[in-house]
Amino acid sequence: MSLPGRILQAIDAAAEHLIDVSRRIHDQPELRFEEHFAVKTLTEALSGFGLHAQTPIGGLETAFRAEFGGGGGPKVAILAEYDALPNGHACGHNLIAGAALAAVVGLAAVRDHLPGQVVLMGTPGEEGGGGKVIMLEKGAFADIHAAMMFHPFDRTLLVNPALANQWITFTFHGKNSHAAAAPWDGYSALSGVIQTFNLIDNARLHFRDGTRIHGIITDGGKAVNIIPQTAQAMFSVRAFTVDSLAQVSERVIKCAEAAALATGTRVDVDVRRGYKDMRDNLTMARRFGEHLRTLGVTFQERDPSAGFGSTDMGDVSYAMPAIHPYLAICDIGEAMCHQDAFVEWANHPRGYQAMLSAAKAMALTTYELLTQPEFLAAAKAEWAQSHG
Ligand SMILES: [Zn+2]
Ligand SMILES: [Zn+2]
Repeated sequence: MSLPGRILQAIDAAAEHLIDVSRRIHDQPELRFEEHFAVKTLTEALSGFGLHAQTPIGGLETAFRAEFGGGGGPKVAILAEYDALPNGHACGHNLIAGAALAAVVGLAAVRDHLPGQVVLMGTPGEEGGGGKVIMLEKGAFADIHAAMMFHPFDRTLLVNPALANQWITFTFHGKNSHAAAAPWDGYSALSGVIQTFNLIDNARLHFRDGTRIHGIITDGGKAVNIIPQTAQAMFSVRAFTVDSLAQVSERVIKCAEAAALATGTRVDVDVRRGYKDMRDNLTMARRFGEHLRTLGVTFQERDPSAGFGSTDMGDVSYAMPAIHPYLAICDIGEAMCHQDAFVEWANHPRGYQAMLSAAKAMALTTYELLTQPEFLAAAKAEWAQSHG
């Protein structure tokens, strides 16, 4: 049997076990950087296939790395995510973990024939923690030549934008006063917050397509009969590119400063760095698509009507050729990432089927990156051009 055939056979042979691993992670959702059960489950499963995982990585307790194959050649990383949201595995990261594990199990079946190395990278805290950003900074990806993962969705797409994002917190400081007896003595920090929202809504007229600004009030005052001395709002700001994000964020901060001026308050601005936009490598994505087609999975290269969020895979895509394709685990309109309904689909036979298809396409793409130097060179050339 051919080596690709042996890769697929190994995944099929382990399918029930791989699904069980994913289901156990689904049944015990853990928030960012608390994914101890998931890491234990995944690294124990790796041991069962004779693969040793190293942890912690990059100073992160719930990051891990396992590698195998021939020395001296290129290294290709397959990334696992496994953190959940407060409403459970509503982003389906249990399937991402299961697909990465399955791909590696397939490749391990031909480990003695690989001219390069396969690296399974366990990346925690995607939901707001930026585990990959931290791992990149700590050098965990320094020796990797290309990287890939898959994400569950309501449709199957080879590429889809992911927005550059950051979080901005505004803390307004006013002066408290009795709201009925002496309102003229106070300056309402809450008014500063409310005017910030209004000014941002005004500014939306001028933003480029793909810009997203959404906020919540995290402190709106303590009592209705006290003019709030302190109030706070937190915004997520997103745009198609890192450069556009900088312009939008500058404008958002000016809105808060103007609100402070108009309300006689003072505002502290705290900007927390987020993720870079995703620059999908088309050379790799199209090869992944060819494998999906062979597996009988229908897909679109892209779909302008699809929604998009942000991912710390964006930062990886700035560092090396990388892909983040999506596979449907439900139909359009049935559920979307982060909804309660998506939790159910992430533990549905259809979800596990998508997980195994993604695993097979990733394993074959990885195999070809390691064994076809011209393919890896083309992916690198595309990356160099788009980052030139
Ligand atoms: Zn998510
Ligand atoms: Zn996600």
